[in-house]
Amino acid sequence: MTARLDASPARQAAAAPGRLDASLIDSLRALVRGPLLLPSDAAYTESRTVWNAMIDRRPAIIIRCLGVADVVAAVGFAREHGLPLTIKGGGHNISGLAVGDGVLMLDMSLMRGVRVDLAARLAWAQAGCLLGDLDRETQLHGLAAPIGFVSTTGIAGLTLGGGFGYLARRVGYTCDNVVAFDVVTADGRIVRASETQHPDLFWALRGGGGNFGVVTGFTYRLAEVGPEIVGGAVAWPAAETVRVLDLFRRLSEDAPPELNLVAGLRKAPPAPWINPAYHGQDIVALFVCHTGAIAEGERLVAPIKRLGKPIGDVLQRRTYVSQQCLLDATQPKGRRYYWKSEYLAGHDPGLLEAATTHAGRIQSPHSAILFFPLHGAINRLPADHSAVGNRDARSVFNVAGSWEQPEDDIRNIAWAREAWQDLRRFSTGGTYVNFLTEEETGDRVRAAYGGNWERLTRVKAEWDPENLLRCNKNIQPSDA
Ligand SMILES: Cc1cc2nc3c(=O)[nH]c(=O)nc-3n(C[C@H](O)[C@H](O)[C@H](O)COP(=O)(O)OP(=O)(O)OC[C@H]3O[C@@H](n4cnc5c(N)ncnc54)[C@H](O)[C@@H]3O)c2cc1C
Repeated sequence: MTARLDASPARQAAAAPGRLDASLIDSLRALVRGPLLLPSDAAYTESRTVWNAMIDRRPAIIIRCLGVADVVAAVGFAREHGLPLTIKGGGHNISGLAVGDGVLMLDMSLMRGVRVDLAARLAWAQAGCLLGDLDRETQLHGLAAPIGFVSTTGIAGLTLGGGFGYLARRVGYTCDNVVAFDVVTADGRIVRASETQHPDLFWALRGGGGNFGVVTGFTYRLAEVGPEIVGGAVAWPAAETVRVLDLFRRLSEDAPPELNLVAGLRKAPPAPWINPAYHGQDIVALFVCHTGAIAEGERLVAPIKRLGKPIGDVLQRRTYVSQQCLLDATQPKGRRYYWKSEYLAGHDPGLLEAATTHAGRIQSPHSAILFFPLHGAINRLPADHSAVGNRDARSVFNVAGSWEQPEDDIRNIAWAREAWQDLRRFSTGGTYVNFLTEEETGDRVRAAYGGNWERLTRVKAEWDPENLLRCNKNIQPSDA
């Protein structure tokens, strides 16, 4: 039996698109340079398919945009004909917000250019880029934007919702490092949002998601990183969990911002670096990345390498680009996924103990409970610095359900919900908008923004008064 989740904004929004006759579709086709895809086209299925196989939605029309002019044309068409609009960046959103039934979907995946301005230490990236596209280009110069942990994620959704990865403790959320957005607004204008140009829109785009316009380009401030760093992963059998998590708690608390650790509890995947005798067994793993001086990194990670008898250890000097791909194989497109997440004030020993108990009840070989320490740069900015909420967070956990068959939906979702219901007693009360599942709307979206919610609704009312961009974790002007 498959689980039916509550109606998502994408489903609700798509409930009543007007009928589109062939001449109207032809008129749109004449306006755009990129391919226009209908359900009868071979490329339609690939384009509408997102990372999470729980999501199965059918847009009325897909435009694979080749440039800003295609975006302007499509936004104008959607507005004129009352079609809800969705935007697919990397298609990795757990809620499947990139795609909706009956919508006009902009598939940005043909817009993947990156330009690095070495003198200014900036990178401009088109909205269809994946994280790996940006890292590859910036790392040619020993520079990086602070993006996420899996290279196949889209920069657009990640940045617009906040964004954190191995560099967050050093330089903050991804969106803290955006200096400008190129935007096509809901009324079809082309604007640049920065500290000095439309500062209210700039404020809202840094965390407020896809509510305010279609972003066509992001300009990131870059940090010096690598290209060689100390990083990788070490795994131990579950019997070592208490010792490993205790080390994780102490090390990550005291670590300089250059050192970032992620802790994971799961069953061992059949990865070549893990002793095959342990494949499928309960394990604990640390993912480690140090982006400061190499010798200092080796000194700092030595206690990790010395702990107990690891069943796999690939913590070593490596390229930053390889570090950024380390988790890719654990998150393939096409599995079924369901997440529950909360921000944390720290790693309370009781929290880690409870998480270990829930990890022992995992229902699938692919699921995990993960802890991502965040304390550092994000905490130093004022709470209203940008729309992104939860600047008090020192860590975030994700109960990450992942399995293959629809008939296993109910028990895997039940496991994630049960673990979350228990672990949320340690929450700051805030949650991360980019980790919200399909049924998490309303209060959960507000919890992602905290005190920034009211201002967001005012900016939304100004820049998208008709709520054209509503197939997302929606900021409803009527809620103001
Ligand atoms: C495997 C995996 C790993 C992840 N790792 C991290 C991580 O390390 N750190 C982290 O912070 N998050 C992480 N996330 C969460 C991630 O930030 C969100 O899933 C994010 O929404 C993905 O962006 P996307 O472009 O791929 O999403 P999409 O599904 O394409 O889009 C998501 C949302 O963004 C909007 N959007 C997309 N493009 C545009 C645009 N050009 N203009 C306006 N709105 C747009 C869409 O309308 C939609 O609402 C991860 C997710 C996955 C699945």
